[in-house]
Amino acid sequence: MQPDREAVHANVRDIAAAFAAQRGERQQRRALDRADFDQPAQAGFLLTGVPTSQGGLWESAAKSTRSICELLRTLAGGDSSLALVSSMHPAVLAFWLASPRAAGGDQDAWDRQRAEVFGAALDGHWWGTITSEPGSGGDIAKTKTLAKLDGSGGYLLSGQKHFSSGSGISSFMITTAVPEGETGPELFYFDARRAWDGSDGMKLIAEWDGHGMAATQSHAFQFDGVPVVRCAWRGGLQPVLQASFGFVGCLFAAVIVGICDAAFENAHEALRGKEASLRPYERIEWARAEMEHWLIQQAYEGMVRAVETGPEGQTPLGVLQGKTAIAELAETAMGRVCKVIGGGTFHRRSPLGNWCEDVRALGFLRPPWGLAYDRMAEGSLGSPA
Ligand SMILES: Cc1cc2nc3c(=O)[nH]c(=O)nc-3n(C[C@H](O)[C@H](O)[C@H](O)COP(=O)(O)OP(=O)(O)OC[C@H]3O[C@@H](n4cnc5c(N)ncnc54)[C@H](O)[C@@H]3O)c2cc1C
Repeated sequence: MQPDREAVHANVRDIAAAFAAQRGERQQRRALDRADFDQPAQAGFLLTGVPTSQGGLWESAAKSTRSICELLRTLAGGDSSLALVSSMHPAVLAFWLASPRAAGGDQDAWDRQRAEVFGAALDGHWWGTITSEPGSGGDIAKTKTLAKLDGSGGYLLSGQKHFSSGSGISSFMITTAVPEGETGPELFYFDARRAWDGSDGMKLIAEWDGHGMAATQSHAFQFDGVPVVRCAWRGGLQPVLQASFGFVGCLFAAVIVGICDAAFENAHEALRGKEASLRPYERIEWARAEMEHWLIQQAYEGMVRAVETGPEGQTPLGVLQGKTAIAELAETAMGRVCKVIGGGTFHRRSPLGNWCEDVRALGFLRPPWGLAYDRMAEGSLGSPA
């Protein structure tokens, strides 16, 4: 049976509104609450990582990006950290969703693995990613973590990883590692429901203490021989990344757009009745901030459209440009809004002060600033000599 899209959107709107009503307390949180994730799961959000052929919400990047992004945009208005962690679920499963045809490999094995990973989402499990590696600067190609053969066809992961948003909530996590005897990194996934004291191969080495996205539990871990499953895709990492990254970029951007929408609504409310008494500087900063919010919305629309109309299997340049533009604009727009509203936004209990830090996440999310600019320059000028 096909899920009722409208019902999923309506349920997510209700959940986000309830979270927004608890905003003051939620923004003080430094940890995730499992019960919060049960709500979007029961509302059907986990189906964003399942194809329609298996009863999910995913048809294709072109047909599904807008609708899934809107769910995240809505959730972000209620709780930034929860929305960012939630975005990882479809982002991770996109590797299997966006490449239904096996390249250079065994279609049966690919189909079996796809059914397995989607099956986990159907069974109520959240997916996340712990791909980032200290020293890689967010570049998957620089992965040093090793996946050693275990002697019976499986692999054991050893190395250090960080920025694991949703640790403790996601049952399964993807990661990258260089398989033993090979030279380049490949994609793996593992069951993340294990102890964090090292007794089961996974040791918490640094708890997340983000200035923003403070409750995402994006911890750092040391892995020592954790059993991992190799992605059944055999066509090299690049095509599978290319096919999904347009969608993934839009997901991350949607979270930040949702935060900006909520922040501007909040700031409008704070200014009500005081408009005429604003100083010239404040009026100009406000007008500029609103112009930037408008540009953020245009960039978001443009990147979603680039995926809807772009060639399948490729990341459109417009997605990178949109994500980076939104990252820059969100930082400046939120800074201006805080200046207009006043010094009170420096308090930790100010919603705007919290959002100001939350939006900074976008520029660091994959591909982070430096890598994004390399890719944009290459997309326009070609590779450097
Ligand atoms: C809010 C937020 C959530 C995120 N969520 C996720 C997620 O869920 N999953 C995920 O995979 N990524 C996630 N990321 C990470 C993101 O995708 C990028 O990988 C990350 O921002 C890159 O960080 P970096 O530039 O500090 O580089 P990195 O190279 O990743 O880190 C540099 C840090 O590593 C240390 N380091 C240790 N050894 C070395 C060395 N040999 N050389 C250089 N530095 C070294 C440095 O001291 C420095 O502090 C998230 C990022 C943010 C901000």
